[in-house]
Amino acid sequence: MRIAILALQGAFAEHQQMLRRTGTDSFLVRNADDWQQQKDGLIIPGGESTAMMRIINDGGLFEPVRNAIAGGLPVFGTCAGLIMLDKEHLGTMDITVKRNAYGRQLGSFHTVHEMRGIGEIPMTFIRAPYITAVGDSVEILAEIEGNIVAARQGCQIVTAFHPELNNDTRVHELFINSVINLRAK
Ligand code: GLN
Repeated sequence: MRIAILALQGAFAEHQQMLRRTGTDSFLVRNADDWQQQKDGLIIPGGESTAMMRIINDGGLFEPVRNAIAGGLPVFGTCAGLIMLDKEHLGTMDITVKRNAYGRQLGSFHTVHEMRGIGEIPMTFIRAPYITAVGDSVEILAEIEGNIVAARQGCQIVTAFHPELNNDTRVHELFINSVINLRAK
């Protein structure tokens, strides 16, 4: 198994480190050539969604990435990566997102909270979005004070927080298991 990590901008190195710890092979995607490599899944990291959108467009990656996800490539989006999958951006997930939902300056915090299918996990939020509405095919995986901070739609998993910034690999394992399950079909 090999996971592509979109490395245009943001916290991609931390995701690669997490995958390494779970024994999963990965490679960084910086341009359309990198994207050609064989891959079983994709991680879209946190960062800044406006900048990431600009670079993905300029690099000719928007269509290929969107088509691959729409065609069933499993994807894990964290923070800005969550925003990238919403209706206003790549549009592959039926979610409505509020950016910088906790405020721009003081919007960073850490908590421990329940995530469905995992249990209590550390959650680090950095100028994070949250999901304000989901379609019927979206399963809510975590909610904090009524705000949706993790969700899944088919092979797409998103978190508003940054699992790659903690010592806990279980959210990455949840994603890897969904890739393994798909490959077994
Ligand atoms: N605030 C950023 C955005 O709107 C997301 C922050 C993050 O990825 N940590 O794109």
